[in-house]
Amino acid sequence: MYTGKQLNQNERPKPSSEPEILHVKDLKKYFPIKAGIMQKTVGHVKAVDGVNLTVKKGETLGIVGESGCGKSTFGRTLIRLYEPTDGSIHFNNTDITSLKENQLRRMIRRQIQMIFQDPFASLNPRKTVGKILLEPLAAHQLYRSNNERWEKVEELLETVGLNRTYKDRYPHEFSGGQRQRIGIARALALKPELIIADEPVSALDVSIQAQIINLMEDLQSEFGLTYIFISHDLSVVRHISDRVGVMYLGKMMELANKEDLFANPLHPYTRALMSAVPVPRKNGLAKRERIILTGDLPSPANPPKGCVFHTRCPHAMPACREAVPAFKEVQPNHFIACHLYE
Ligand code: SF4
Repeated sequence: MYTGKQLNQNERPKPSSEPEILHVKDLKKYFPIKAGIMQKTVGHVKAVDGVNLTVKKGETLGIVGESGCGKSTFGRTLIRLYEPTDGSIHFNNTDITSLKENQLRRMIRRQIQMIFQDPFASLNPRKTVGKILLEPLAAHQLYRSNNERWEKVEELLETVGLNRTYKDRYPHEFSGGQRQRIGIARALALKPELIIADEPVSALDVSIQAQIINLMEDLQSEFGLTYIFISHDLSVVRHISDRVGVMYLGKMMELANKEDLFANPLHPYTRALMSAVPVPRKNGLAKRERIILTGDLPSPANPPKGCVFHTRCPHAMPACREAVPAFKEVQPNHFIACHLYE
């Protein structure tokens, strides 16, 4: 398990006084379920179901949750790789949900970039790494000449810790960690403000994970980047994030500063997730009392009524089966959706 011990602790200042870069309001992404010869819509998979949050410039917001909780769909919807079903996304005070594709490309695509879990799948195997990195620079007509762009490509490789000469190699010639460095270089090419990293280290060995996270932290300090870091791994999220949001079945269950969330998780689901993670102590790692959740994760095509967690919650009350709990601030900067705190 990744403990974060191998990482250099980043001293960057807390971004609490920084302006908001992203404001997400009641965001929903439903996928239609089609059936029959006529392919009629017979229902919806509610992958993201009414998420509210803000992200400040220069911070790292971690998003955690089990597989299938909607966190990856949430990341892709933020950048409109999936069209939102409802709600709004304001980036630097521009409502990007209402932008047309050409406006989106011109105004937003450069400023928000994604890093994916499997960089190999997103790197064209028939192109050299140099050409892969050159493409976005040419498409957005950055720099005056192709020579300048090639110089930038080499600089990008160096920035992510790769040799300039690697520009002539193909993706298959690199290790997993090196490919993720190339994925990061491609995300950086257009000088974005916000990077959405979707499980960027999940496919890597623990020692390589540490290197990539160190690199991301260094780049954040150097370029003033803002991150949304999506992961199922609480240890990784705990290391890199300033604030953490916990998702379950398409909804945000709890959102708080990292220190508060890990020291004092309030939501029954967060407590269950945390109980599986060892707590750092002076003389090693200690485990919390393990809370085992019974029952399977319900289908987002047919989520439970009321609180979506009630079928597995050890504290469920009659009200939990009827009414959806509001997502509200119960302590300063600590938000939670649970009837226990109403
Ligand atoms: Fe559990 Fe009820 Fe709180 Fe949902 S609202 S987490 S079911 S106590």
